Amino acid sequence: VNYTVSRSQRRRTIGITIKQGNVRVMAPSGLASHRIEAFVTSKADWIQRHLPAQQAQIAPLPTRRWEHGEYVYWLGQKLELQVRPGQRNTIEHDNERLHIRISRRTQNPSGTVKKLTTDWFKTQGQRWLDAHIPILPAFQFKPATAWRVANYHAKWGACTQRGGLSFSWRLFSAPEWVVRYVVIHELCHLTHFNHSAAYWSLVERFDPDYREAEAWLKVHGHTLLNDEYFNFVNEK
Ligand SMILES: [Zn+2]
Repeated sequence: VNYTVSRSQRRRTIGITIKQGNVRVMAPSGLASHRIEAFVTSKADWIQRHLPAQQAQIAPLPTRRWEHGEYVYWLGQKLELQVRPGQRNTIEHDNERLHIRISRRTQNPSGTVKKLTTDWFKTQGQRWLDAHIPILPAFQFKPATAWRVANYHAKWGACTQRGGLSFSWRLFSAPEWVVRYVVIHELCHLTHFNHSAAYWSLVERFDPDYREAEAWLKVHGHTLLNDEYFNFVNEK
């Protein structure tokens, strides 16, 4: 097994993660290499259970270049990027396409395509939240006071004690039923600021199928949150 090691002065214990199809070991700075090697060997079964599944998710995905002909997903729907020269940098959505115009003076066309697309996700994501959060069913829960789109790339959403919710713009690639679940997940934290049984039973009242959404995020999250891909394998 190939793996990378990162050492840290502050670490007291050895740990291992699999992310984006790579095995990473976190170790205290003084730990001998053969101890790390032995640790990885002891985790071989666990690695064999998780690594191939992640690699299978990544293998069919092209590395994202932000150029003409690529596609992104919006609420689980495929949108093709149509990139053409234009007077100004603009983006417009119609049916299954994002029409992007890039000014000839633009120094970094792919960076500009990425910026226009992510700004579009942020604007549309905010609209989606504005349209959907106020009409969620009224159970016994604390309502949100504000909501916004954020730039998280290691989590889908967050909430504050004062009732503010925020969600990664990357989330809006996921199918709408998954997006709705993440909103419910954060909203229910305003009532139960934890993952207690009471919390999950509130989540379940909103979304009886929440486990399916959790499973979807577990499978696709690591390539959707990774800007190298910003994509997922669509089984449909
Ligand atoms: Zn949570």
